[in-house]
Formats: sequence, structure tokens, C-alpha cells
Amino acid sequence: ATPLSITTATGRGARHGVLYRNAEALETAAKIDVVVFDKTGTITRGEPHVVRIAALGADGAFDAEIDDATLAAIAAAEAKSEHPLAHAVVEAAHARHLDIPECLTFVAVPGGGVRADVDGRDVVVGADRFVEDAVGADGLEQARETMRLIAQDGATPVIAAVDGRIVAVFAIRDTIKDDARAAVGALRARGIGVVMLTGDNRLTADAIAREAGIAHTIADVRPEDKESVILALQRQGRHVAMVGDGINDAPALARADLGMAMGTGTDVAIESADVTLMNGSLTSVVTALDLAHATMRNIR
Ligand code: ADP
Ligand code: MG
Repeated sequence: ATPLSITTATGRGARHGVLYRNAEALETAAKIDVVVFDKTGTITRGEPHVVRIAALGADGAFDAEIDDATLAAIAAAEAKSEHPLAHAVVEAAHARHLDIPECLTFVAVPGGGVRADVDGRDVVVGADRFVEDAVGADGLEQARETMRLIAQDGATPVIAAVDGRIVAVFAIRDTIKDDARAAVGALRARGIGVVMLTGDNRLTADAIAREAGIAHTIADVRPEDKESVILALQRQGRHVAMVGDGINDAPALARADLGMAMGTGTDVAIESADVTLMNGSLTSVVTALDLAHATMRNIR
């Protein structure tokens, strides 16, 4: 690339959908040697859909069809949640034209799931550990093999319990962005390390990372721990960029040397970042770093 002035670089960035907060962001971007990507909504499109529901059958195995009342009760709990996985569950109930009841009480645990009282039934939906902590493990052992197969295949398993018994395992799939693999390859070709960071389980995370060409994944990370992962990399002397879209990415975006927010993401993420990638494409991560290098070569 040819050397650029800061004005030229910010102008060219803007035309490619890359907005730097200030000149310092350009300077920092030229020093980045590792890029940490959030998974959901960053590497993936952030539009997950339910591809399968394995319900508890009479034999105790998760091989049955879910009945309408059970699906409606689960959707009622998820209807109050902002989480993309919750939207997928509600969408699955809508696809069957179910009436979704109101819930009386509702609690959402970030990085875990939701719990609600639906017409007197105790409905818990979310990650296995969350459901286990909330209501115990009745049926969890039988659900595990189904969950493993779903995760190995790159989908996220979400389990649902009604009145303390696990009644269904949902397979929820989010596809990776078209340019994920190319962007990861371009970063690695420049000698930049690439890491994927997610609250999702290890098996699903590894399957998605494999698809995107990412060798290093940090999975099962609670929202409040994303920031410490960035800090740990910095303590190893790395210059860290974090790319994310969610409210739960905000502290990590702020902590990173260079926070890069997806313009398609939440306002909180954008406000915490040094660079906004307007169109949500991953190629613009590469553009942002390349423009910075071209500029700093000129200035030094
Ligand atoms: P990510 O880092 O991939 O954006 P989160 O931290 O938001 O993930 O969530 C981590 C995990 O918690 C999800 O993969 C899911 O298993 C579970 N979870 C959180 N909220 C919900 C919900 N509303 N419904 C179902 N599962 C949920
Ligand atoms: Mg996300």
C-alpha cells in the first residue's frame, strides 16, 4: 500500500465503512498483533434459527416430537429475553402458529439463560450448567448425548426444563459470515494472531472456529470474564484488538488496545469502541489495520 496522511486514511476508511474515533485509534491500529473476535454476531451472522427440537420421549430418550403446549411454555419464557437464541425459540413457536402465554415472573441470567413462571409451571431455558444450577439435573444425563451431537455439528444446544425435568433439547444454528474465512486468512498472512472468544460451549465454538479457519478458541467464558481474557493477553505483552457487537462485549472492547464494534451491533458496544465497522463485515477489520499501517509508515 502507498503511504497515506491521517485525513486521507480516515476518508478512505469511511468509504469502506471503517470509522476511527480519533487519530490515536489509527496509531494504535498499526501496532495490533492479535485480534480477538466475539463469536455470535461477529464471526457469525447473529441470526440463529432452531433447526431441530429433540423432546423427551416415553422411553426417557430425547427422540420425540415436542408437543404444542410445552413449546408454547418454553417460548413464553424466552419471549421476555433479548438474547438472539431466545428470539430463535420464539420464532419456532410462531412458525407453528402457537399462542404464547404470558409469564408471571421472569429472570434472565446473562451468559446462562432464563427462568419464568408460565401458568404455574416453572420453566428454565438455557445452557446446561445454568439449567442444572437452577433446577437440578433430572434428565440431564440422557440429554447429554443429544447435546454433544448438536454441538459437534456447530449448532448451539439449548435445553429446557419444566417443573425440574428436562423436556427438550433445541439445536440452534447461526451461520458464519461469508467473508469470515477470508478475513481470518488475511490477518494470519500479516502475522497477526487470531482468537475467538465466546460464552458458548467448547464443542460448538470449536466447530465454528474450524469453519472460519481460527485455530485458537476460548469458550465457556462468562460475560464478566471477557475483559480478563483481554487483560491476560496484554500482560503477555500483546497489542490486542477486540471485535464484538454485544452489550456483553463492551467491557472487553473498552479494555482492548483497540476496540472494534460492529455497526450492526448494540449502541453500548459502539460507544465502548475505538473503531466502528459500519457494515458488519469482517473484511473491514483487515481494511482498518491496513489503512493504519499505510498511514503510520508515512508519518514515521
Ligand atoms: P456469546 O458470547 O456467544 O454471545 P452469551 O454469553 O450471550 O454468548 O451466552 C452464552 C450461553 O448462554 C449461550 O450459548 C446459551 O447456551 C446460554 N444462554 C444465554 N441466554 C440464553 C437465552 N435467553 N436462551 C437460551 N440460552 C441462553
Ligand atoms: Mg456477540
